[in-house]
Amino acid sequence: MSDLMRRRISIFGSTGSIGQSTVSLLKHQGGKKAYEVVALTGASNIGLLARQARELGAKVAVTARADLHDALKRELEGSGVSAAAGPAALLEAAAMPVDWTMLAIVGAAGLAPGLEAARHGTTLALANKESLVCAGSMFLNACRQSGARLLPVDSEHSAIHQAMTGETTAHLERVVLTASGGPFRDMPLEQMADVTREQARAHPNWDMGERISIDSATMFNKALEVIEAKVLFDLDPGQIEVIVHPQSIIHSMVGFTDGSIMAQLGPPDMRGAIGYALNWPERRGLPVQRLDFGLLARLDFQPVDHDRFPAIGLAYAAASLGGLAGAVFNAAKEVALDGFIAQRIGFLDMARLVAHVFDDMSGEAARYGTGYGLDDVNGTDSEARARARLWIENNSRV
Ligand code: NAD
Ligand code: MG
Repeated sequence: MSDLMRRRISIFGSTGSIGQSTVSLLKHQGGKKAYEVVALTGASNIGLLARQARELGAKVAVTARADLHDALKRELEGSGVSAAAGPAALLEAAAMPVDWTMLAIVGAAGLAPGLEAARHGTTLALANKESLVCAGSMFLNACRQSGARLLPVDSEHSAIHQAMTGETTAHLERVVLTASGGPFRDMPLEQMADVTREQARAHPNWDMGERISIDSATMFNKALEVIEAKVLFDLDPGQIEVIVHPQSIIHSMVGFTDGSIMAQLGPPDMRGAIGYALNWPERRGLPVQRLDFGLLARLDFQPVDHDRFPAIGLAYAAASLGGLAGAVFNAAKEVALDGFIAQRIGFLDMARLVAHVFDDMSGEAARYGTGYGLDDVNGTDSEARARARLWIENNSRV
């Protein structure tokens, strides 16, 4: 393929779980011969970032950590890749012209670079669901104004996108998000209070980053996905259902007005959804296992137990309130997760903390409606974090 035809690609969060899978798929599909890699970004793991940038011949590698600028420069010496660092450099990288961008930074930190990429109008593969949870209408507006196309990478939303191919939203009645139920699906509530970080991050089906794995154990991940689905597919919260499906083979389903259901199935491997977004509207051979229905034998379903997973109910409340209620929910959840990882609060405290901050702040945050800017999101996020930290101070185990 000539240079002129190479697709220009950037990956935000290339050193994470989704980012590394994206890099491995790019290599599988021809690497730097097939793609002109523009920017790769990471945070602390500059050794990996530099290796990826050399391998793919990236123009620039950016670490979010300004203090690691010199170290990244050293790692990249003689490679021809430029090194940049800090939040402003991330925004500059997001403004560089490309044809396809993977947004795979974890948490609300992904919002600002994601918005900048959305303003520059490319095809955006969106793994960072927090952008939509915190500032859904603003993110979609930015895409609308620039003409950027948004392709979901979350496996559930990719499934819905695939099931909607050739359909119109006028015929969509409901979506059914499947959830594995995480490692504690059948654990009695009393025992859940004392589970450890190691137990919580051991997801039964998916191999993911630590934060999203623990969020799966609390079902906060599914909770974020309810809000994400509402935003992406313009749904009423009442049109969204969550069902526990322990095998994670059905990635989600769409129900149409005639009662018909379309489901998308595949192995629990994020390279499926990443590859779909990378190759869309084509499909290409992906190095993922094929389902063997003889071995699979059965698919199970059970309703969500809301006593054990209060995150889901809170997400419906946030989705119904709208405005910046999602930003409150997400910020409190991120601090709760930090507190659990640092062993300052227990597993069940995470939902207690989020419920507390959400009760305090969500009504007011919802009043923004769709009339907010990035400063309002950041202000709401900071206030929710401060209140969440205070809750940890007052309720800390250590
Ligand atoms: P991860 O923790 O493995 O990687 C996160 C990436 O973000 C890394 O490259 C890290 O360097 C970068 N990063 C971290 N903090 C940053 C900051 N403050 N500023 C800039 N960059 C920063 O996370 P992941 O599991 O790959 O998840 C990435 C996103 O994809 C999340 O939004 C997650 O919810 C979503 N997602 C992940 C999976 C999965 O299988 N891992 C599945 C569905 C959706
Ligand atoms: Mg998901």
